[in-house]
Amino acid sequence: MQKQQDFLGRIQVLSPDVARKISAGEVIERPSSVVKELVENSIDAGSTRIDVELVEGGKTLIRVADDGVGIPADDLAKIFLKHATSKIAAIEDLEAIYTMGFRGEALASIGAVSMARVVSCARGAGQGAEVEVKGGDRGKHKYVGAPDGTQVEVKELFFNIPARRKFLKSTPAEMSHISDMLAKLTLSHPAVHFVFSHNGREVFNLPSTSSLKERIAAYYGEELARDLVPISSREPGLEVRGYALPPSQYRTNTRMQFVFLNGRPIKDAGLTHAINNAYRALLPPGRFPIIFLSLDIDPSSVDVNVHPTKLEVRFRDGSRVYGQVLQAVKKALNQLQPGLVPPPAAPSGADANTGASQDVRVPPKMFDRRGSGGVTGSLLPRTPAVTPGRETAEMGYGRFVQLHSAYIVEETPKGINIIDQHALHEAALYHDIKGIIQEKTLSSQRLLIPELLELSPEDFFRILELKDVLERLGLELEEFGRNSVIVRAVPQILKDVDPKELIKGLLEDTRERLTGEQMTDRIIKVLACRGAVKSGQKLSSQELVALLERRKGTEPLSHCPHGRPTTLFFSLEELDKQFKRTGK
Ligand code: ADP
Ligand code: MG
Repeated sequence: MQKQQDFLGRIQVLSPDVARKISAGEVIERPSSVVKELVENSIDAGSTRIDVELVEGGKTLIRVADDGVGIPADDLAKIFLKHATSKIAAIEDLEAIYTMGFRGEALASIGAVSMARVVSCARGAGQGAEVEVKGGDRGKHKYVGAPDGTQVEVKELFFNIPARRKFLKSTPAEMSHISDMLAKLTLSHPAVHFVFSHNGREVFNLPSTSSLKERIAAYYGEELARDLVPISSREPGLEVRGYALPPSQYRTNTRMQFVFLNGRPIKDAGLTHAINNAYRALLPPGRFPIIFLSLDIDPSSVDVNVHPTKLEVRFRDGSRVYGQVLQAVKKALNQLQPGLVPPPAAPSGADANTGASQDVRVPPKMFDRRGSGGVTGSLLPRTPAVTPGRETAEMGYGRFVQLHSAYIVEETPKGINIIDQHALHEAALYHDIKGIIQEKTLSSQRLLIPELLELSPEDFFRILELKDVLERLGLELEEFGRNSVIVRAVPQILKDVDPKELIKGLLEDTRERLTGEQMTDRIIKVLACRGAVKSGQKLSSQELVALLERRKGTEPLSHCPHGRPTTLFFSLEELDKQFKRTGK
């Protein structure tokens, strides 16, 4: 609680310097924000090629060069002023925004918190100019020779705000933010040739193409692009286009869901809901589809000026947009298999559509319920006496048998245990790993043949971001050329696991930005899950004994790290009652 005072202190108007730094912070949070604003400006300038060069995750240098229309030499003096823009002039212009920028804030903000330099030559002007700024103070403005187009160089971001500079993350962490963001911009503008390099090495080089599908293939690989299902729907004032992936390819979060509104990457809870709703009957809870969606809307029916970084928008008729997107995605899914999701006759908003796909029969192979999927419960009568837990689920020492290559049924002195083999093994591994890393690092097993993995730029930087934690857990990997890593060793405990699958699992489950401690725990869960025997795997009797023996430790193994029970216990008493053997 804050101490009560009679008054809060005298009111002062902040000095221009402080005010500038505060408002710059709204737009520029980290290097990726600078890259975003600069690339958006280059796109607005009609560039056909944009080069982005970074040094140390953009902390030392960010350079963006384009071949766009350029800035007239006399205007160059104004670009670091706040509210200086060539994109709108009057308030009515907000009704018809076709550009990415319009607030005239980005360069002023960048200039306030870095050392920046802009060189530009307006198309056909023949004479370029250059201007510099350092922490908001404008330096010299001079005429120079320069190619048509604009180059912006931003050095030492936050050099004058130590508190902010201190909070910048490691180079791979900043790079993973930047590549996430660049993925969106390159996908929303396939016609632009993008070249992106880091510390002198090329990260990607995406030639211009007229097709979104080709851009997706260039960025995420042919394998993913092969399965794309086209989406297309046209109504007056709103066109929805793009590609969806079949439900067999999903993610555990919504980060592979791209929505572009008139070429602007946006985040909209309503649209995310519409997308997930279209797939609802096809994916189990916690799984999310992959989709690339592009909306072309009459600019007067959307307000793009509701967020400082222009990430969020407000639709005039949100439910109509929702309805059309939902139907468009459902229609696309029906191309996969007619009748998969029935689009109802009249799409008119969110309410009209809820429940539409509820009683759809799901083709069984769509759900892969093996591994850590949730199977418990449905197999067994839900009686209160079914008490999962080690306390009640006495250790067996009796007979046991593996059934359906998934469950172990075990006789105990007072009843029967039914054990989910994957869940129990996963719980045991989780506690093993946790126990070991409290004292030392996990020992690792060198791979005879190191495994080379080609990744997308985002995944590449994400995995490098995790490198140190992974090393402590016995997983050794190294950068190996462009967007590739080589796995040299895996944790001893997981020596039989396919390293490729392991890395995939790690990338999939560590996408949220977690703190160090939580991240380590999450990674351990992935290791445990991938390392555990699968449901569907036949076990030898030695393996079964070994697995059941693991319960002798001190750790509670009643639940797997995802919270599912490992064991269901049926007491004889309960069984007798269920079979109405009351008079026994
Ligand atoms: P906004 O994009 O909202 O207009 P910015 O601060 O990002 O504001 O840019 C200010 C102005 O500088 C733009 O309106 C544009 O006229 C000019 N400008 C910035 N970058 C470029 C570029 N790469 N090419 C041409 N003009 C540019
Ligand atoms: Mg801008």
